[in-house]
Order: sequence, then C-alpha cells, then structure tokens
Amino acid sequence: MKELSIAEVLAEVAVLVKPHFGKGRTADYIPSLASVPGTKFGMAVRTVAGEEHVIGDADEGFSVQSITKVFALGLALNRIGDEVWTRVGKEPSGTPFNHLSLLEAEKGVPRNPFINAGALAITDVLLDVSPDPAGLVRDFAGFLADEPVEIDATVAASELANAWQNRAIASLMRGQGTITHEPEAVVAAYCRQCALTMSCRQLARAFLPLAAGGFSPVAQETIFHERLTRRLNALLLTCGIYDSVGNFAYRVGLPSKSGVGGGIVAVIPGKATVAVWSPELDRFGTSVVGTAALEAFSQITNCSVL
Ligand code: GLU
Repeated sequence: MKELSIAEVLAEVAVLVKPHFGKGRTADYIPSLASVPGTKFGMAVRTVAGEEHVIGDADEGFSVQSITKVFALGLALNRIGDEVWTRVGKEPSGTPFNHLSLLEAEKGVPRNPFINAGALAITDVLLDVSPDPAGLVRDFAGFLADEPVEIDATVAASELANAWQNRAIASLMRGQGTITHEPEAVVAAYCRQCALTMSCRQLARAFLPLAAGGFSPVAQETIFHERLTRRLNALLLTCGIYDSVGNFAYRVGLPSKSGVGGGIVAVIPGKATVAVWSPELDRFGTSVVGTAALEAFSQITNCSVL
C-alpha cells in the first residue's frame, strides 16, 4: 500500500474525527473559555527535518492553559536543575488536576509538575528568578515558536476571579513550606501563565526540541540536554494527561500534554511534534476530538512509542 503524505494523513484525520464533535463540553469554570465555539478544530505537524503541515484552524490562537506547564518546568529545570525534584514528584496522581486530597496526605509535595499543585510549586521557583514568571514563560514559548506570543489578560482575569481551588492548594502548600511566596502572588502568576495564547502551528514548533534530542531546529539552539529531554518526555508520557493518562497512552501512545483550552501537543521522539486543538473536553479536562485526532494520526502513521 502506498504510504500517505503528512498532508494526506491530516486530511484523513479531519474526516475521521467528525463523529466526535458534540461529545464533550468546553471548560466553563474559567468563564471566558466557555464561549469558545466547540466546532473549532486545528492540527499542525512539524517534523525534525523541517516539514510543516497544518489543517483547519491551526493558525488560530487559543488559550493553551496547562500546556504552559511544560515550558515552565523546562525553565525551572534549566535554572535550578534537579533541585526542582525537592519541590515536586514525578508520579502520576490518579486524581483530578486540581485536587487537594493527595497534597494533604503527602505533606504538601505535589505528585508531579503538571497537576495544578505541582505547577504552582514551579511558579514559586520561577518567582525567585523573576517578578513576572508568566512573562518568562511567554518569552520562552515565543522564542521556541520563532514568533512573539501573547498572554490574554481577559482570560487571566477570568480565571483569577474564580481560582478558589488553586488558592486553597497554594495556601496548603504555603503552610507546608513547599512554596515560599505569598499564595495570592503565586496563584496570580500561575493564572497569567495559563492564559498564554498560541496556535497549533506555534505549539508544534515550540515543542520540537522534545522530538529532536533537546535541539530546536526552529531556534537553531540546544534548549535541553539530551538526558533531560528524555526525562521530560517520560514525564509527559506518565503525567501529561492527568488522571486519564493510562487511557490516553493506550489509545495514542505518545508523550503528550493537554490543556483545558482544548489543546494537546504530542511528541514523536526523533521525528516530529503534533499539536491539535478542539475545545470540547471530556470529564478529565482533555479534548475529546483532539484525543480522537491523535489516536487516528498515531494509528495511520504507526508512530506510537509503545
Ligand atoms: N488554568 C487551569 C487551571 O488551573 C489549567 C488546567 C488545565 O489546562 O488543565 O485549572
């Protein structure tokens, strides 16, 4: 059978995902995300070799939310190295991304850097480096995407006005000593970081170092050393999709990170990155259509790492 080109695969995926629209719901606990049309769908592939292919709304910016946690972790690891692991763990949590229960039982040390508690601890680390950690994350993401990206102040304010759960998490960690700055400052910086707007094309470019042994073919610079790149991919594979990470690995088989804006970025080590966006989420906070799209892509191209 003739092998399909990437453009042909994307065209086929866009058809295969059609029955999955309407099965999920856009995030409404951040009010300004609730109004994003559920019909949006974009996908971008960027290969290590330099090919770039997109389909649908791949150049439309959306709120990348938790996907920023990968940039923030990368910055923290590059700044303070393994000391990060004294603040957060490396285990899947098995509980929803904003839960407090494990945190209390485990003395304020979050299970991993991608659940909210872990990301708040990373924000606390970055607050030692800059009074504006979200600005650091924005500039890093823009550098990796090779074009400036912006924080949506309306989305940030909308989340901050409703961030009671994250305030509770930050207060608990302040009491336990896992974070050192004022909880309100940490939560505000975190909400600002999550409100970063990027497109699928930009995300696929920005994640490329994770597919290219730490080197960014876009920025033409080594971003992470090789071992750290492998470790970041291990964390994505085991912790990147919250408490549905097992099911996601079963279906897609690629290190990936989701966000409640409906974006998912997947890494095909040595080969490419794939970013997808569709705002309707499953009950775990992951894009329904996005997951179906990555599953189809992985099956058609046989690119699962597992
Ligand atoms: N800002 C969101 C929150 O803290 C991020 C969650 C996500 O994207 O998964 O709830």
